[in-house]
Amino acid sequence: MKKDGKLILGFDIGGTKIAAALGTSDGKIIGSKRIKSEHRSPEDVLGEMVADGYALLKDNGFKNSDLTAIGIGAPGPMDIPKGTISPCNMKKWINVPVRDHLAEKMGVKAYFDNDANAGVLAEWFFGAGKGCRNLIYLTMSTGIGGGIIVNGHLVQGASFLAGEMGHVVLDPKGPQCNCGLKGCYEAFCGGRAISDRMKREIGGQPDHPIMKLAEGKVDDLGYPVLRQAVVNKDPYALALWDEICLRNAQAIGIFANTFNPEMIVLGTVALHSKELLLDPVKRYLPLFCWKEMLQAMELRVTALGSHIGEYSGICVALNGLFEEGKWQLPWEKK
Ligand SMILES: [Zn+2]
Repeated sequence: MKKDGKLILGFDIGGTKIAAALGTSDGKIIGSKRIKSEHRSPEDVLGEMVADGYALLKDNGFKNSDLTAIGIGAPGPMDIPKGTISPCNMKKWINVPVRDHLAEKMGVKAYFDNDANAGVLAEWFFGAGKGCRNLIYLTMSTGIGGGIIVNGHLVQGASFLAGEMGHVVLDPKGPQCNCGLKGCYEAFCGGRAISDRMKREIGGQPDHPIMKLAEGKVDDLGYPVLRQAVVNKDPYALALWDEICLRNAQAIGIFANTFNPEMIVLGTVALHSKELLLDPVKRYLPLFCWKEMLQAMELRVTALGSHIGEYSGICVALNGLFEEGKWQLPWEKK
């Protein structure tokens, strides 16, 4: 490890697993572990997180006192000032004090944020958005989350809820969203919404070419099968894909006109779809935002890809240190 590299332990908490990673402030991942979180009590999982944190230090030849900070990215709902999480897909987890528990047990300061903010920080410090001052990251997985960097700082909002870009309403008469609103971006383009829609529209037609692609398994309907059907030029898939691309362009256009970012980075669905998604979205964008915004902006897929979880917790800690003046942005170092 370089002399100026701080040693950071990061956790990316998800509904089925937690990624624990030990890394440096230079963006080097030294070691990582996976912890199962599904159907487990918080006490159990917190205990394993601490044990794995210590093991990552020891296994890589570090002392506990070498650790500078801990960072945690977690799914909502969460209470940022209190450092607690109550993820809706983890039933027994209610107001779990994950931040203070880890800080106390490991003897260093722990920083805490939601997973989409953790994602934008990871893409900003070490991914596609390096060097940007204005950057947006959209998670694009089962749901759609967002993180926003404006003028070189993460936007938190008055009650730490900024960046809920998946719940920008694109049509108040649109499909019902899990959040209670109708016609949210996520209700049009999120992985779960697309999967539910396909099940509803073609799940009962065993002879449909897309059901054959899914080998008759209704539960396999979703983005991977849809993409294959688009490549095969299935008419249902082409029409649905066109709608998805138009809705993505509408949402991205709103964000571009609002924030005038240098870059918007798209997550999982875009990573797997690449040009199949990006090209039509780019064609539709001029319908939804000014050309001045488009000229200033690059639309890219995540550079960290499936490794983003290893970086995100670490980057939450680095952002905490950055805001306290204890760490410089990698590209601003002399
Ligand atoms: Zn919503």
